[in-house]
Amino acid sequence: AAKAAGKDQAIVFDVAMRQEQADRIRLLERLRAAVDGDEFAVYYQPIVTLDDAYPVAVEALVRWLPPGRPPVGPDLFIPAAEDSGLIVALGEWVLRRACADAAPWHRRWGTTVTVNVSPRQLADPHFTVKALAALEASGLPAAALTLEITEGVLVRSGAHAAQALLHLSALRAEGVRVAIDDFGTGYSSLAYLRDLPIDVLKIDRSFMPADDADTQQAVLVRAIVDLATGLGLTTVAEGVETAGQAGLLRALGCQRAQGYHFARPVPVENATEQLALAANVQVHPVAADQHND
Ligand code: C2E
Ligand code: MG
Ligand code: MG
Ligand code: MG
Repeated sequence: AAKAAGKDQAIVFDVAMRQEQADRIRLLERLRAAVDGDEFAVYYQPIVTLDDAYPVAVEALVRWLPPGRPPVGPDLFIPAAEDSGLIVALGEWVLRRACADAAPWHRRWGTTVTVNVSPRQLADPHFTVKALAALEASGLPAAALTLEITEGVLVRSGAHAAQALLHLSALRAEGVRVAIDDFGTGYSSLAYLRDLPIDVLKIDRSFMPADDADTQQAVLVRAIVDLATGLGLTTVAEGVETAGQAGLLRALGCQRAQGYHFARPVPVENATEQLALAANVQVHPVAADQHND
Protein backbone atom coordinates (compact mmCIF):
# COMPACT_ATOMS: atom_id res chain seq x y z
CA ALA A 1 0.00 0.00 0.00
CA ALA A 2 2.87 2.31 0.94
CA LYS A 3 4.49 1.60 -2.39
CA ALA A 4 1.31 2.40 -4.28
CA ALA A 5 0.89 5.63 -2.35
CA GLY A 6 4.48 6.53 -3.18
CA LYS A 7 3.82 5.91 -6.83
CA ASP A 8 0.69 8.03 -6.73
CA GLN A 9 2.69 10.81 -5.15
CA ALA A 10 5.32 10.52 -7.83
CA ILE A 11 2.63 10.84 -10.50
CA VAL A 12 1.12 13.86 -8.77
CA PHE A 13 4.57 15.39 -8.49
CA ASP A 14 5.29 14.70 -12.16
CA VAL A 15 2.00 16.28 -13.22
CA ALA A 16 2.74 19.30 -11.05
CA MET A 17 6.19 19.61 -12.59
CA ARG A 18 4.81 19.40 -16.10
CA GLN A 19 2.20 21.98 -15.23
CA GLU A 20 4.90 24.25 -13.85
CA GLN A 21 7.00 23.79 -16.96
CA ALA A 22 4.03 24.51 -19.22
CA ASP A 23 3.22 27.62 -17.16
CA ARG A 24 6.80 28.78 -17.48
CA ILE A 25 6.84 28.30 -21.24
CA ARG A 26 3.55 30.15 -21.57
CA LEU A 27 4.88 32.96 -19.37
CA LEU A 28 8.01 33.19 -21.50
CA GLU A 29 6.00 33.33 -24.73
CA ARG A 30 3.84 36.10 -23.29
CA LEU A 31 6.90 37.97 -22.02
CA ARG A 32 8.56 37.75 -25.40
CA ALA A 33 5.44 39.15 -27.06
CA ALA A 34 5.25 41.83 -24.36
CA VAL A 35 8.82 42.99 -25.01
CA ASP A 36 7.94 43.36 -28.70
CA GLY A 37 4.52 44.86 -28.04
CA ASP A 38 5.11 47.72 -25.61
CA GLU A 39 3.45 46.12 -22.57
CA PHE A 40 6.00 47.34 -20.05
CA ALA A 41 6.16 50.53 -18.04
CA VAL A 42 8.73 51.99 -15.70
CA TYR A 43 7.42 53.15 -12.33
CA TYR A 44 9.41 55.45 -10.06
CA GLN A 45 9.81 55.43 -6.29
CA PRO A 46 11.43 58.40 -4.53
CA ILE A 47 14.59 58.01 -2.46
CA VAL A 48 14.58 60.73 0.19
CA THR A 49 17.13 62.33 2.50
CA LEU A 50 16.33 61.38 6.09
CA ASP A 51 17.12 64.93 7.25
CA ASP A 52 14.24 66.58 5.44
CA ALA A 53 12.40 63.84 3.48
CA TYR A 54 13.34 65.56 0.21
CA PRO A 55 13.26 63.26 -2.87
CA VAL A 56 16.82 63.55 -4.17
CA ALA A 57 16.56 60.46 -6.37
CA VAL A 58 14.10 57.96 -7.81
CA GLU A 59 14.46 54.22 -8.39
CA ALA A 60 13.19 52.89 -11.72
CA LEU A 61 11.09 49.75 -11.18
CA VAL A 62 9.71 47.86 -14.16
CA ARG A 63 6.06 46.78 -14.38
CA TRP A 64 4.37 44.48 -16.86
CA LEU A 65 0.99 45.81 -17.95
CA PRO A 66 -0.83 42.97 -19.75
CA PRO A 67 -3.82 44.53 -21.57
CA GLY A 68 -6.98 44.36 -19.47
CA ARG A 69 -5.18 43.04 -16.40
CA PRO A 70 -3.63 44.62 -13.33
CA PRO A 71 0.09 45.50 -13.43
CA VAL A 72 2.41 42.56 -12.71
CA GLY A 73 5.37 43.14 -10.39
CA PRO A 74 8.90 42.12 -11.38
CA ASP A 75 9.21 39.39 -8.77
CA LEU A 76 6.79 37.36 -10.92
CA PHE A 77 8.64 37.71 -14.24
CA ILE A 78 12.25 38.85 -13.70
CA PRO A 79 13.42 35.31 -12.78
CA ALA A 80 11.98 33.89 -16.02
CA ALA A 81 13.38 36.84 -17.99
CA GLU A 82 16.79 36.20 -16.38
CA ASP A 83 16.86 32.50 -17.19
CA SER A 84 15.78 33.02 -20.77
CA GLY A 85 18.11 35.95 -21.46
CA LEU A 86 15.10 38.15 -22.26
CA ILE A 87 16.22 40.40 -19.39
CA VAL A 88 18.97 41.82 -21.61
CA ALA A 89 16.56 43.46 -24.07
CA LEU A 90 14.12 44.40 -21.31
CA GLY A 91 16.86 45.83 -19.09
CA GLU A 92 18.23 47.95 -21.93
CA TRP A 93 14.77 49.30 -22.58
CA VAL A 94 14.30 50.16 -18.89
CA LEU A 95 17.67 51.94 -18.84
CA ARG A 96 16.87 54.03 -21.94
CA ARG A 97 13.37 54.81 -20.64
CA ALA A 98 14.64 55.78 -17.17
CA CYS A 99 17.35 58.08 -18.56
CA ALA A 100 14.82 59.75 -20.86
CA ASP A 101 12.26 60.22 -18.06
CA ALA A 102 14.85 61.47 -15.59
CA ALA A 103 16.61 63.98 -17.87
CA PRO A 104 13.98 66.75 -17.41
CA TRP A 105 13.68 65.98 -13.67
CA HIS A 106 17.41 66.38 -13.35
CA ARG A 107 17.42 69.63 -15.34
CA ARG A 108 14.64 71.14 -13.23
CA TRP A 109 15.29 69.78 -9.78
CA GLY A 110 18.63 67.98 -9.78
CA THR A 111 16.92 64.61 -9.27
CA THR A 112 19.07 61.55 -9.95
CA VAL A 113 17.84 58.12 -11.07
CA THR A 114 18.82 54.59 -10.07
CA VAL A 115 18.30 51.61 -12.36
CA ASN A 116 18.49 47.90 -11.51
CA VAL A 117 20.91 45.97 -13.70
CA SER A 118 20.82 42.20 -13.93
CA PRO A 119 23.89 39.93 -13.99
CA ARG A 120 23.01 38.92 -17.57
CA GLN A 121 23.26 42.53 -18.74
CA LEU A 122 26.69 42.91 -17.16
CA ALA A 123 27.89 39.74 -18.89
CA ASP A 124 27.19 41.46 -22.24
CA PRO A 125 30.48 42.86 -23.59
CA HIS A 126 28.57 45.82 -25.06
CA PHE A 127 26.91 46.97 -21.85
CA THR A 128 29.18 49.99 -21.29
CA VAL A 129 28.59 51.27 -24.81
CA LYS A 130 24.83 50.73 -24.50
CA ALA A 131 24.66 52.54 -21.16
CA LEU A 132 26.66 55.50 -22.48
CA ALA A 133 24.39 55.60 -25.54
CA ALA A 134 21.30 55.74 -23.30
CA LEU A 135 22.82 58.70 -21.43
CA GLU A 136 23.83 60.42 -24.65
CA ALA A 137 20.41 60.00 -26.27
CA SER A 138 18.60 61.35 -23.20
CA GLY A 139 20.92 64.21 -22.30
CA LEU A 140 21.09 62.94 -18.71
CA PRO A 141 24.59 63.54 -17.28
CA ALA A 142 26.43 60.38 -16.28
CA ALA A 143 26.71 61.66 -12.69
CA ALA A 144 22.90 61.65 -12.43
CA LEU A 145 22.71 57.88 -13.03
CA THR A 146 23.25 55.15 -10.45
CA LEU A 147 23.29 51.47 -11.41
CA GLU A 148 22.04 48.99 -8.79
CA ILE A 149 23.61 45.55 -8.71
CA THR A 150 23.35 42.75 -6.18
CA GLU A 151 26.27 41.57 -4.12
CA GLY A 152 26.75 38.29 -5.95
CA VAL A 153 27.51 39.90 -9.32
CA LEU A 154 30.99 41.09 -8.42
CA VAL A 155 31.93 38.68 -5.70
CA ARG A 156 31.63 35.53 -7.77
CA SER A 157 34.90 34.71 -9.44
CA GLY A 158 35.18 33.95 -13.12
CA ALA A 159 34.73 35.58 -16.50
CA HIS A 160 31.32 37.10 -15.81
CA ALA A 161 32.44 38.85 -12.64
CA ALA A 162 35.52 40.13 -14.45
CA GLN A 163 33.39 41.45 -17.31
CA ALA A 164 30.98 43.12 -14.85
CA LEU A 165 33.90 44.73 -13.05
CA LEU A 166 35.24 46.15 -16.32
CA HIS A 167 31.84 47.68 -17.17
CA LEU A 168 31.35 49.22 -13.76
CA SER A 169 34.88 50.61 -13.64
CA ALA A 170 34.54 52.10 -17.12
CA LEU A 171 31.16 53.64 -16.34
CA ARG A 172 32.35 54.98 -13.00
CA ALA A 173 35.24 56.68 -14.79
CA GLU A 174 32.54 58.51 -16.78
CA GLY A 175 30.79 59.60 -13.56
CA VAL A 176 28.10 56.91 -13.22
CA ARG A 177 27.59 55.72 -9.65
CA VAL A 178 27.22 52.12 -8.51
CA ALA A 179 24.99 50.88 -5.68
CA ILE A 180 24.92 47.50 -3.97
CA ASP A 181 21.22 46.54 -3.78
CA ASP A 182 19.71 44.40 -1.01
CA PHE A 183 22.94 44.68 1.01
CA GLY A 184 23.30 42.10 3.74
CA THR A 185 21.32 39.30 2.11
CA GLY A 186 23.97 37.83 -0.18
CA TYR A 187 27.59 36.77 -0.03
CA SER A 188 28.55 39.71 2.14
CA SER A 189 32.28 40.08 2.49
CA LEU A 190 33.71 43.12 4.14
CA ALA A 191 36.75 43.19 1.89
CA TYR A 192 34.69 43.83 -1.23
CA LEU A 193 33.26 47.00 0.26
CA ARG A 194 36.82 48.31 0.30
CA ASP A 195 38.00 46.89 -3.01
CA LEU A 196 35.12 47.12 -5.46
CA PRO A 197 33.99 50.11 -7.54
CA ILE A 198 30.92 51.09 -5.50
CA ASP A 199 29.46 54.33 -4.13
CA VAL A 200 26.20 53.44 -2.39
CA LEU A 201 24.95 50.70 -0.06
CA LYS A 202 21.24 49.94 -0.04
CA ILE A 203 20.45 48.18 3.22
CA ASP A 204 17.98 45.40 2.57
CA ARG A 205 14.44 45.68 3.85
CA SER A 206 14.91 42.58 6.02
CA PHE A 207 17.13 44.69 8.32
CA MET A 208 14.38 47.19 9.03
CA PRO A 209 13.50 47.13 12.72
CA ALA A 210 9.90 46.03 13.32
CA ASP A 211 9.56 49.10 15.56
CA ASP A 212 11.93 51.48 17.32
CA ALA A 213 12.27 49.11 20.29
CA ASP A 214 13.78 46.35 18.13
CA THR A 215 17.33 46.83 19.40
CA GLN A 216 18.91 43.72 17.79
CA GLN A 217 18.06 45.03 14.34
CA ALA A 218 19.16 48.54 15.31
CA VAL A 219 22.59 47.20 16.31
CA LEU A 220 23.00 45.58 12.89
CA VAL A 221 21.84 48.66 11.00
CA ARG A 222 24.13 50.90 13.04
CA ALA A 223 27.10 48.65 12.28
CA ILE A 224 26.34 48.66 8.55
CA VAL A 225 25.86 52.44 8.47
CA ASP A 226 29.08 53.09 10.41
CA LEU A 227 31.06 50.73 8.20
CA ALA A 228 29.68 52.22 4.98
CA THR A 229 30.11 55.80 6.14
CA GLY A 230 33.68 55.11 7.23
CA LEU A 231 34.41 53.81 3.73
CA GLY A 232 32.90 56.91 2.14
CA LEU A 233 29.76 55.16 0.87
CA THR A 234 26.26 56.64 0.93
CA THR A 235 23.71 54.52 2.81
CA VAL A 236 20.11 54.08 1.71
CA ALA A 237 17.61 52.15 3.85
CA GLU A 238 15.09 50.12 1.83
CA GLY A 239 11.55 49.30 2.88
CA VAL A 240 10.93 52.09 5.40
CA GLU A 241 7.24 51.80 6.22
CA THR A 242 6.78 53.80 9.43
CA ALA A 243 7.72 57.18 10.90
CA GLY A 244 9.33 55.30 13.81
CA GLN A 245 11.67 53.45 11.47
CA ALA A 246 12.56 56.67 9.65
CA GLY A 247 13.38 58.41 12.94
CA LEU A 248 15.50 55.53 14.15
CA LEU A 249 17.44 55.30 10.87
CA ARG A 250 18.13 59.01 11.01
CA ALA A 251 19.38 58.69 14.57
CA LEU A 252 21.67 55.84 13.45
CA GLY A 253 23.27 58.12 10.87
CA CYS A 254 21.69 56.64 7.74
CA GLN A 255 21.54 59.30 5.04
CA ARG A 256 18.75 58.24 2.74
CA ALA A 257 15.64 56.08 2.72
CA GLN A 258 13.09 54.57 0.39
CA GLY A 259 9.78 53.00 1.32
CA TYR A 260 6.02 53.16 1.52
CA HIS A 261 6.26 55.58 4.48
CA PHE A 262 7.51 58.21 2.02
CA ALA A 263 6.02 57.12 -1.31
CA ARG A 264 5.12 54.06 -3.37
CA PRO A 265 6.38 53.40 -6.89
CA VAL A 266 4.18 55.39 -9.33
CA PRO A 267 3.89 55.91 -13.10
CA VAL A 268 6.03 58.60 -14.73
CA GLU A 269 3.34 61.34 -14.77
CA ASN A 270 2.65 60.94 -11.05
CA ALA A 271 6.37 60.97 -10.31
CA THR A 272 6.71 64.29 -12.15
CA GLU A 273 3.85 65.73 -10.05
CA GLN A 274 5.38 64.51 -6.79
CA LEU A 275 8.82 65.88 -7.62
CA ALA A 276 7.38 69.24 -8.69
CA LEU A 277 5.35 69.46 -5.49
CA ALA A 278 8.35 68.64 -3.30
CA ALA A 279 10.50 71.21 -5.12
CA ASN A 280 7.86 73.94 -4.69
CA VAL A 281 7.35 73.22 -1.02
CA GLN A 282 11.08 73.08 -0.42
CA VAL A 283 12.41 75.97 -2.47
CA HIS A 284 9.61 78.55 -2.18
CA PRO A 285 8.00 78.08 1.23
CA VAL A 286 7.59 81.85 1.71
CA ALA A 287 6.18 82.42 -1.76
CA ALA A 288 3.71 79.55 -1.23
CA ASP A 289 2.54 81.10 2.05
CA GLN A 290 2.01 84.48 0.41
CA HIS A 291 -0.12 82.93 -2.32
CA ASN A 292 -2.37 81.49 0.37
CA ASP A 293 -3.00 84.89 1.97
P1 C2E B 1 14.67 46.19 -5.43
O1 C2E B 1 15.59 46.72 -6.46
O2 C2E B 1 15.23 45.88 -4.09
O3 C2E B 1 13.48 47.25 -5.35
C1 C2E B 1 12.78 47.56 -4.17
C2 C2E B 1 11.50 46.77 -4.10
O4 C2E B 1 10.89 47.00 -2.82
C3 C2E B 1 10.45 47.22 -5.11
O5 C2E B 1 9.67 46.07 -5.45
C4 C2E B 1 9.61 48.20 -4.31
O6 C2E B 1 8.30 48.36 -4.82
C5 C2E B 1 9.59 47.51 -2.98
N1 C2E B 1 9.34 48.44 -1.88
C6 C2E B 1 9.63 49.74 -1.80
N2 C2E B 1 9.30 50.26 -0.62
C7 C2E B 1 8.77 49.26 0.10
C8 C2E B 1 8.22 49.17 1.42
O7 C2E B 1 8.16 50.13 2.19
N3 C2E B 1 7.76 47.94 1.82
C9 C2E B 1 7.81 46.86 1.00
N4 C2E B 1 7.33 45.72 1.46
N5 C2E B 1 8.32 46.90 -0.25
C10 C2E B 1 8.80 48.08 -0.70
P2 C2E B 1 9.31 45.73 -6.96
O8 C2E B 1 9.07 46.99 -7.74
O9 C2E B 1 8.25 44.70 -6.90
O10 C2E B 1 10.66 45.11 -7.50
C11 C2E B 1 11.15 43.91 -6.99
C12 C2E B 1 12.54 43.64 -7.49
O11 C2E B 1 12.53 43.38 -8.90
C13 C2E B 1 13.50 44.80 -7.30
O12 C2E B 1 13.96 44.84 -5.97
C14 C2E B 1 14.58 44.45 -8.30
O13 C2E B 1 15.46 43.50 -7.77
C15 C2E B 1 13.77 43.80 -9.41
N6 C2E B 1 13.57 44.78 -10.49
C16 C2E B 1 12.66 45.78 -10.60
N7 C2E B 1 12.80 46.46 -11.75
C17 C2E B 1 13.86 45.87 -12.40
C18 C2E B 1 14.51 46.12 -13.66
O14 C2E B 1 14.20 47.05 -14.42
N8 C2E B 1 15.56 45.29 -13.98
C19 C2E B 1 15.96 44.29 -13.14
N9 C2E B 1 17.00 43.51 -13.52
N10 C2E B 1 15.37 44.03 -11.97
C20 C2E B 1 14.33 44.82 -11.60
MG1 MG C 1 16.92 48.07 -6.62
MG1 MG D 1 16.72 46.65 -3.18
MG1 MG E 1 15.22 44.61 -1.69
